[in-house]
Amino acid sequence: MEWRNLPGSGGGFEDRGGGGGGGGGLAIGGIGGLLLMLVAAFFGIDPRIVANSGVVQQQPAQTQTQAQSGGQRDELSDFLDSIAKSTNQVWGDIFSKAGQQYTQPKFARFIGRTQTGCGTGTSGMGPFYCPVDSTVYLDPSFFNEMQQQLGGGGDFAYSYVIAHEVGHHVQNELGIADQVQRQQQRMSEAQANRLSVRTELQADCFAGVWGNHVSDLAKLNQGDVREAVDTASAIGDDTLQSRGRGYVEPDSFTHGTSEQRVKWFMQGFKSGSPDQCDTFNVDYRQL
Ligand SMILES: [Zn+2]
Repeated sequence: MEWRNLPGSGGGFEDRGGGGGGGGGLAIGGIGGLLLMLVAAFFGIDPRIVANSGVVQQQPAQTQTQAQSGGQRDELSDFLDSIAKSTNQVWGDIFSKAGQQYTQPKFARFIGRTQTGCGTGTSGMGPFYCPVDSTVYLDPSFFNEMQQQLGGGGDFAYSYVIAHEVGHHVQNELGIADQVQRQQQRMSEAQANRLSVRTELQADCFAGVWGNHVSDLAKLNQGDVREAVDTASAIGDDTLQSRGRGYVEPDSFTHGTSEQRVKWFMQGFKSGSPDQCDTFNVDYRQL
């Protein structure tokens, strides 16, 4: 992936540094524990729920990235900015072609923990989007976790992670996030989870749409696409649950199965059209 080639617009990642705290141990230890946490938290968790439920765990700020000072740039910063700005560009173009205006999200990187409009964000939550302050939050040490825990990695895999969170911002812009949340309040937990699955699969599809639009300029090849597909597959609810607890509980799925996540990412990637991402008007068993 040639991410340096991507045209961009607007702002990239603001560096919020350590944000205080960050010490302390993992309350849930070991690979199973981490995976269980990923089940709850990976990609697009609603941080408000976490903030209220006390699930948030302290996580040591184990990161190789250093807070930048004195205007020094490193490759990771350039990469993150390039991806963020290219999502601004792509979604700005898509919205304006549809006669709508796209308000760009903010992007914040942090180490360990940070204050957000949705409560305290921690590394253990994985990357997330907070609709209250329209910000995508990322602790880049998460990319190391991806490699170690999920066996995935690579620049396009990381881009998929960021583009998925931007997908939640697009949902916010389109009013989908509000509708989903309102409906979920009137539902059983199992029904609310199903709606969450639809929401997450749409964010995967939107990530694919972004990938389609940068495909030529970034010179994406089959290996790049494989990275994203492997990641989408590794973070399916069924895969994470069977790795984490040894059995799967479909009623508790919130993000979709591995197969579904790959399918919807590819649907966006092949079509390049958000119209092809209507996960809300498909029979649940056909998702
Ligand atoms: Zn998500």
